[in-house]
Amino acid sequence: MAQINCTVTNCYFNNRQGCTAPSIEVDGKKAEKSRLTSCNTFIEQKPGIRSSVSEPKSDTEIKCEAVKCIYNKSEHCNASDILVNGRNASVPEETCCSTFRD
Ligand code: SF4
Repeated sequence: MAQINCTVTNCYFNNRQGCTAPSIEVDGKKAEKSRLTSCNTFIEQKPGIRSSVSEPKSDTEIKCEAVKCIYNKSEHCNASDILVNGRNASVPEETCCSTFRD
């Protein structure tokens, strides 16, 4: 469970650079660098579709495949907060977890 700070402001779940999703999934099974991880929960906000109106959560469940990260415990994130980057992303691969540390 962690607070997610997120610069991907064009994601459906982003609200004031916080994440409103109840849980997210981070990819990067073989990642040795943050840029090789990605937030798989990203959904591009398209014009005309209403974005999530929920408030950002401070205790989001994070399932994470980046097992080489020091914060990874049994494919879950153990950090208290993380930073997801990827301004103007159009696919999950253009996002990454910048908190990744090996
Ligand atoms: S900090 Fe590490 S364990 Fe947590 S989501 Fe990012 S890559 Fe995964």
